[in-house]
Amino acid sequence: MKVWLNGRLVEKRSAKLSVFDHGTLYGDGVFEGIRVYGGKIFQTKAHIDRLFRSAEVIRLAIPYTKQQLIDATYRTLRANRRSDAYVRMAVTRGEGTLGLNPNKCPKPSVFIIVDSIELYPPEMYETGMPVIVAKTIRTSPRSLNPAAKTLNYLNNILAKIECVNAGASEAVMLNEHGNVAEATGDNVFIVKDGRLITPPASAGILMGVTRAVVMKLAGRLGIAMEEKDFAPDALYAADECFMTGTAAEVIAVTRIDGRTIGGGQAGPVTRKLMAAFREFIRLPEAE
Ligand code: PMP
Repeated sequence: MKVWLNGRLVEKRSAKLSVFDHGTLYGDGVFEGIRVYGGKIFQTKAHIDRLFRSAEVIRLAIPYTKQQLIDATYRTLRANRRSDAYVRMAVTRGEGTLGLNPNKCPKPSVFIIVDSIELYPPEMYETGMPVIVAKTIRTSPRSLNPAAKTLNYLNNILAKIECVNAGASEAVMLNEHGNVAEATGDNVFIVKDGRLITPPASAGILMGVTRAVVMKLAGRLGIAMEEKDFAPDALYAADECFMTGTAAEVIAVTRIDGRTIGGGQAGPVTRKLMAAFREFIRLPEAE
């Protein structure tokens, strides 16, 4: 496997960062998870724009242009002979001294990994997955805005540990107001009386690229949609629930904290959107 690291393609075993990199020392950096379907980067602009916005939030200047990173991604795909892949692109603060001051890190490190990802077993897309509501709440936007996709995922990892210990597949995280924010690596949707509902940006969420695509597809399918705060009660009482994410795509949730949702099967709206998403990823407009 070839990894793109600071402008060069290197073998996986040589793709290394310094222990003095502030990405390693402090989780100081930003990243994107991106899918490639049929040789095309899915939602290229949305991902690259979000990477640069995330970097702005942490005041990190990326030493490449957006186009250079897109070109580098295609170059890495070619080097690995991949036309379907999961791409991890990251920019760290770079090598510095011990101590937090980012100004002591003159050169950010940038890398692009082209690999695969399978978060959930294929049969779970039929049966839906069990999730829990985590006790760990999502970081407040006033602390570290979840809209920035930073390398600091400990908040989510703590919730993920709760979910693994409970034998569930994902954990829904609430915000400081007790409303549903998002899952550890996915956005959350519910369906109630035929309406699709998802938490708004103000709930303190990552504005998922998959979320945006699913919202667009819902509009095209004539499904009523609303971005609205809701409490865990609404989650338990939902007719359907599903999650969206680059790795997971669209996946039904059929159990929440041991309660069965929608008869324990992926519901009709979820199925419609799953099918529409699978179709959409192969269209030229998906790029
Ligand atoms: N929320 C969080 C916390 C995430 O890490 C992710 C991405 N894995 C998402 C939502 C989904 O975002 P996207 O659809 O852009 O992958």
